[in-house]
Amino acid sequence: MSYTIKFVGNEHTNSSKRDGNVPCLIVDHISAGSWSSLLSWFTTPNNTVSSSTFGVSKKGEIVQFVDMERMAWANGIDALDITSSKTPIVQEHKGINPNKYSVSIEHEGTDGNLTEEQFQATLWLHKYIRDYVKEKWGITIQLTQYDVIGHYQVSPYKPMCPGKYFPWERLYSELQEKNDEDDENMAMSLSNDAWERIDMFLGNAYNEKIILDWDWVQKARDKKLTSAEFTYIQMIINERRKGEKI
Ligand SMILES: [Zn+2]
Repeated sequence: MSYTIKFVGNEHTNSSKRDGNVPCLIVDHISAGSWSSLLSWFTTPNNTVSSSTFGVSKKGEIVQFVDMERMAWANGIDALDITSSKTPIVQEHKGINPNKYSVSIEHEGTDGNLTEEQFQATLWLHKYIRDYVKEKWGITIQLTQYDVIGHYQVSPYKPMCPGKYFPWERLYSELQEKNDEDDENMAMSLSNDAWERIDMFLGNAYNEKIILDWDWVQKARDKKLTSAEFTYIQMIINERRKGEKI
């Protein structure tokens, strides 16, 4: 199945420069409203506060509001929340506004439940973004839990975005299926800094007894963790952390 992206951004769409940051993160959102209200909100001159790079409807239509070369205003967050974030990729960027290095996808809906058409369209779109970024800037978004996250992992004020029924497990699993299977079984290729953040993330989870097996931390220290393993363990940690709060 092939999709077309309809560019609907116009002079009123909020966006700014990335200031030299390369998009290396995809943030998923839920619009909490209808498709028509999403379209009108992101194109009206009355909206001076927010935008999104892409939108995906329940019917599987894909629209683009902001060029990937520019940043959309999608993840509004205070400087203090950025520095106290527990999400590895946000920590790694040391206080930089996540809008500057992310691409955002809004999904029509309320609780994260996607239609099958919408799921297939967003699956395709995640890979399109990866390919576009790779072609344009030469960096690879791995499409794992490390670099595909929910708005709630960026902003503590958006705990319900993209919603409790958002199909994370299926999305991660199908994003990886479409990748070269060898990559999945090879250690991730990351900067020392990224490895340190992952080490800290897993170490903290171990210290807090959220995970009980030290091998996870050791594998990160030895830089031997594969993307499939990291996807798996980060999902476990996030689910257990979420469970604690409820
Ligand atoms: Zn959101």
